[in-house]
Amino acid sequence: MSLEDLLIARVSETGPMTVADYMVECLLHPRHGYYTTRDPLGIAGDFTTAPEISQMFGELIGLTLAQAWIDQGAPRFTLAELGPGRGTLMADILRATRAVPGFHDAATITLVEASPVLRDRQAETLADFAPTWLDSAADLPDAPLFVVANEFFDALPIRQFLRDGGTWRERQVGVTDGALAFGLGGPTDQPTLAPWSDTPDGTLIELRPAAAAVMAEIAPRIDTHGGAALVVDYGTWGEPGDTFQAVRGHEKVAPLDTPGSADLTAHVDFRALAQSAPGLAASALTPQGVFLERLGITARAQALASKLSGDPLAQHIVAHRRLTHPEEMGDLFKVLGLTAPGAPMLPGLSQT
Ligand code: SAH
Repeated sequence: MSLEDLLIARVSETGPMTVADYMVECLLHPRHGYYTTRDPLGIAGDFTTAPEISQMFGELIGLTLAQAWIDQGAPRFTLAELGPGRGTLMADILRATRAVPGFHDAATITLVEASPVLRDRQAETLADFAPTWLDSAADLPDAPLFVVANEFFDALPIRQFLRDGGTWRERQVGVTDGALAFGLGGPTDQPTLAPWSDTPDGTLIELRPAAAAVMAEIAPRIDTHGGAALVVDYGTWGEPGDTFQAVRGHEKVAPLDTPGSADLTAHVDFRALAQSAPGLAASALTPQGVFLERLGITARAQALASKLSGDPLAQHIVAHRRLTHPEEMGDLFKVLGLTAPGAPMLPGLSQT
């Protein structure tokens, strides 16, 4: 039975499901889930990410984390990544920080990853570093924590609420004429939506309870023991709107068309993330291109370019542009830093 048939059967039995339930089934179903059954990254896959585009991304993130660690007294610490994909970002962080005295010895490498296929891939990439895998951020140790997440939060499930006649109605996935279709639930009174109660009819708000839950695990550890979080993703500072999307073979497809075989995501609400970490100091939300330029990506690109020629040089130039140019990833992707109270902000970001 296909996942689509399973979901249609489920709706027939128990009624329409939330968009969040639909996302979780499509992404993480044990037998049919998008992440559970494949490695979706790379040119031949469905989408590619900054660490897969160029080693410079992870190198600069490694250096900013190392500086923050030095600024906080170089403690023994957990170096964690949420949703590490192929392990490329962590490998680049570790290569770039090899020369930072004591950093590797002080770090316990910890990966929070739901996909068995990607865990295997990470084990290959990071074989020299003996990482530990966790199912959930809740299992992180109580210790200083430096954590990075690139394109992780966008994959966590969202619920969608439409302002309608002075009330809220939740967008649902049901069945119409034998096929999955969007619909709306009855009026609902969500306390978390109170701040938006004077928004006009037709406004759609996305809530991501799973992101708040992850932050509720990370923030108290950083608050109590020290550390920092660096979150990179596409999104905004709390702008409303429908951002639910599906991508397959580097093309946008309809989110209900191919359950389990397209990547489902929605933009990250960075304001909500920062609000879920009330004890920590938040950076200004910074475009990825600005962040990487402040950390010296152009100098690094030139140093690498001096050793390249022909096709590899042309690819390197394209990669630099993709990461930084406002018309490519430079503006769409944003960086949020969160640090222990009183600690200096991560280099490349400014304190608000
Ligand atoms: N950070 C990587 C991969 C991004 S894709 C990169 O930049 O290349 C999203 C990653 O998050 C994948 O590794 C996916 O398996 C993981 N993931 C998605 N939902 C998750 C969840 N609920 N818990 C843990 N990992 C999850």
